[in-house]
Amino acid sequence: MDNLVERFLSYVKIDTQSDPYSNSTPSTKKQWDLAHKLVTELKEIGMQDVTIDDKAYIMATLPANTTEDIPTIGFVSHFDTTPDFSGTNVNPRIIENYNGEDIVLNKEKNIHLSPDDFEDLNLYKGQTLIVTDGTTLLGADDKAGIAEIMTAMEYLIQNPQIKHGKIRVGFTPDEEIGRGAHHFDVEKFGADWAYTMDGSQIGELEYENFNAASAVVTAKGKSVHPGYAKDKMVNAIGLLQDFMSGLPRQEVPERTSGREGFFHIHKIKGSIEDASLEMIIRDHDRERFESRKQHVAHLVEEINKQNPGYLSVKIEDQYFNMKEKVTPVMHIVEIAKAAMKSLGITPIIKPIRGGTDGSQLSYMGLPCPNIFAGGHNFHGKYEYVPVESMEKAVATIVKICELTAERSSLS
Ligand SMILES: [Zn+2]
Repeated sequence: MDNLVERFLSYVKIDTQSDPYSNSTPSTKKQWDLAHKLVTELKEIGMQDVTIDDKAYIMATLPANTTEDIPTIGFVSHFDTTPDFSGTNVNPRIIENYNGEDIVLNKEKNIHLSPDDFEDLNLYKGQTLIVTDGTTLLGADDKAGIAEIMTAMEYLIQNPQIKHGKIRVGFTPDEEIGRGAHHFDVEKFGADWAYTMDGSQIGELEYENFNAASAVVTAKGKSVHPGYAKDKMVNAIGLLQDFMSGLPRQEVPERTSGREGFFHIHKIKGSIEDASLEMIIRDHDRERFESRKQHVAHLVEEINKQNPGYLSVKIEDQYFNMKEKVTPVMHIVEIAKAAMKSLGITPIIKPIRGGTDGSQLSYMGLPCPNIFAGGHNFHGKYEYVPVESMEKAVATIVKICELTAERSSLS
């Protein structure tokens, strides 16, 4: 594992910020810079069948080193960083034997990383932290995941006494703009299941995410002089007001947590003649998700009874809870759990209040839970990663390969 930190530092120094306003894949040309480096490195460590397609999706194989019949498993990470914060000239710093106090990220700009603001730091007293210089993000999301997969593969190649089946590796662009899975060729990848190494705190293991839909409600109105409007005016804004008052006021993001779903209106604009609102609908439970969508459609219908045709709604599904696809193959979660426990890591299993590339991949035929990569405070200047967590992630990958082989030879 000697190369892990060095590897990670070399990746974060390459700017790979993605861009939601670009229609090309990858969304930014600079993502190729790291992609090409990763291809070279995969070949150098001895991976086989290393490919990169015209959209910068990278795949590679570690062939089985036993003739036993073992399922092919995969590990997936993304090499882009969020458009929300600068990833240019990342200047990482290593804090050895962290003393539990404030870390001065940038003296000039007076930027501190403090356990008063980020209590998770207390978990890592005495460990080695990699932090930013306070002007950029770090890029542990998800270059930590890439460094971990690369290092685990190198370790397996150098330690052939550890028996494993065929392992596939996938590195993708544009995850941060929601497109990481879009051009992922699941058939070419050819794995029975995979894990994204894209979680945060050590121990995280996720296989539940939201079911997600978006809705746009559009209202037409009829403008009449307000002094003479009785029984004549139809106010588009008022129709939206009626619609909104039919939504449960407690079921909004700011008042829900855990497995509680919500309706979230995030944009509204309008005049008497035209008004519209945009909202998202979220729920982990598929039945409740469907009834939330029905509720929205029903409200529109009811309001239209008084003013037929003045209100319309367009509801579109965005992604679904991967749990539906993972539950039938629960051993893929059990193996990851067992791997962590055998390494002294307590698995932290909780539902994601969002989606992952793994949720899309799961519905594309590749069941794909998410495992910690170790970093904290993603998407900003306070991002940091403990080296010990990254080392444990490498060990978890190795152990999963090992357990998958053992489990198959037992059955
Ligand atoms: Zn990520």
